[in-house]
Amino acid sequence: MHKILLTNIEKNTVECIPSEELPREVTHISPIHCTYSMREVEDYFLIEYTAMADVTFICQRCGDTGNTRISLTNTVALCPNDDVAERLLKHHESVVYQGAYVDLEKILMDELRLHSYLKHSDKDCQLDNNADN
Ligand SMILES: [Zn+2]
Repeated sequence: MHKILLTNIEKNTVECIPSEELPREVTHISPIHCTYSMREVEDYFLIEYTAMADVTFICQRCGDTGNTRISLTNTVALCPNDDVAERLLKHHESVVYQGAYVDLEKILMDELRLHSYLKHSDKDCQLDNNADN
C-alpha cells in the first residue's frame, strides 16, 4: 500500500514499490515512479498522475519474455461515496475513498491491469507478424 493524504497538492513525486498481486503476464516490475497533483473540487478530489515502470512480461503473442517501459497518464476522481462516483463516471474514472487517505498503489495497479495486454513490438516478436492478423 502506498497511502497518500487527501489534500490539495500542487505536485509530488513518489516511488511506489508494488506489493499487490501483479497481472498474470508480468513476471517482474520495477518500483513505479509517479508524479501526481491533487485538488479538491466541490465534493470530491481530482488526482492527475503520470507513472512509469519497467516490466518484464510474457509476450501474449509468442510466449517468450520481453522487457518494456510502461507509461500511464490518467485523471481519477476520488469520491466520498458511491453516489458521487456514479455521478462523475461519465467524465472520469472514479474511486471511492474511505477516511482521509487514498491508496495510490491500488489506483496505479488497477490502471496497469487495464493496460497490461503485453506483447513484443513486431520486430522483436518470435512469431511471424502475419500470425497476428
Ligand atoms: Zn512475442
